[in-house]
Amino acid sequence: MLSRFLNTAFFLMMSLILQAQKDDAQILETLDAGASSYAEIAQQIWEWAEMGYLEEKSSALLQKTLQEEGFTIETGVAGIPTAFIAEYGSGYPVIAILGEYDALPGISQQAIPEKKTAGGAAGHACGHHLFGTASSAAAIAVKNWLSDTGNRGTVRFYGCPAEEGGSGKVYMVREGLFNDVDVAMHWHPSARNGASAGAALANKSGKFRFYGISAHAAGSPEKGRSALDGVEAMNMMVNMMREHVPEKARIHYVITEGGKAPNVVPNFAEVYYYARHNSREVVIDIFDRIIKAAEGAALGTGTTMDFEIIGGTHELLPNLTLQKVMHEKLQSVGGVTYDETEKVFADKIAKSLGYETVDLSTAQNIAPYETNGKAYGSTDVGDVSFLVPTIGLNTATWVPGTPAHSWQAVAAGGTSIGQKGMMVAAKTLALTAVHLFKNHQLIEQSKEEFEERRGTDFTYAPLLGDREPALDYRK
Ligand SMILES: [Zn+2]
Repeated sequence: MLSRFLNTAFFLMMSLILQAQKDDAQILETLDAGASSYAEIAQQIWEWAEMGYLEEKSSALLQKTLQEEGFTIETGVAGIPTAFIAEYGSGYPVIAILGEYDALPGISQQAIPEKKTAGGAAGHACGHHLFGTASSAAAIAVKNWLSDTGNRGTVRFYGCPAEEGGSGKVYMVREGLFNDVDVAMHWHPSARNGASAGAALANKSGKFRFYGISAHAAGSPEKGRSALDGVEAMNMMVNMMREHVPEKARIHYVITEGGKAPNVVPNFAEVYYYARHNSREVVIDIFDRIIKAAEGAALGTGTTMDFEIIGGTHELLPNLTLQKVMHEKLQSVGGVTYDETEKVFADKIAKSLGYETVDLSTAQNIAPYETNGKAYGSTDVGDVSFLVPTIGLNTATWVPGTPAHSWQAVAAGGTSIGQKGMMVAAKTLALTAVHLFKNHQLIEQSKEEFEERRGTDFTYAPLLGDREPALDYRK
């Protein structure tokens, strides 16, 4: 009797494993079949290279792609013309796949292994053309699986504009667009493959504008009050403050307007500040002190000052319950294999970065799983991660050794190297999502971990407050 029961249990288990392998194989197959058309979409978005909140064509192309696959589109969400949600299916669970598509200003580059501008105003130095495209591909693969198998559940693609400094997702979170989501997934282009628990710095940014009085700088300087003096005095105070902030805090600024001519006392000057730390409480405190420095600078220089909060993001809350699943799926997908042409390209890129030769191992292999990710940058995915269990991965879309926001990143992103790396992400996202559709208990476990990490007394308060989306921050 017992042995018959064990036999039955064994066959049941085996058939479940075989079914899972069959599902995974089918998903990988359909994604491979679509790879060339996704490459075209990514290439098109790479060429357009539209900056934050200006991604009209890029957003429209992704919407069209998802709509043709049977997704329902809600566009212009959260008061942002280029933000949208594409949805397929119904009911529990709701799995969100995030996509971005904004480019960076001042870093136009051709898809060649030497520095040469493509002539545009911006470039995809963070690979968001791949980000948006691969996430769409993953959502479509999940949709196909849902419709083929008749499984219940909802897959959503979140079209998230202006990640680079515009905090697009924060407005979408604030609007409540993630309130009914069970799990959110994202990825990011990189020079390596890894699905370890991520980390990111909380960030708050703002533009400080000083207003002075113009006068002839030699003829009647006593009549003038320099707005640039206001900016410089403020920077002086903030630079002194660096000695008295918690370790690992980051404060950076650029002077975006400092006057036009030395012989005219500038009546307007502007400085754009970021403050970061891995705790948002620290960031909020530092930013308040930066505001005090600006007020003091205005007082001392006889100018007036106002400021505008531009962005603000939470740090990233990891979810190890689900992150581990994503790592296993990434391992099953495997890394990127370069062909001969790509190797030649990679070798030239590596040399331009100061390496003697290219080491392709981080593109080919998957980084070991780690639970204590280090934070270097910031992302508005942070705010999503405080609303729902959120997991992510990196894939090797750039030549190993390439830093983000470099011309080398733009270059590789415009070639088959970027396109291959992006499909690793699309596959991993799709396999992970399908695994969760089949294992609801994992989703429930991840929610327990999420509640514990977030704390029971948490209430969401966006760092950028109640301001309207900064739709013109790149204009
Ligand atoms: Zn990015």
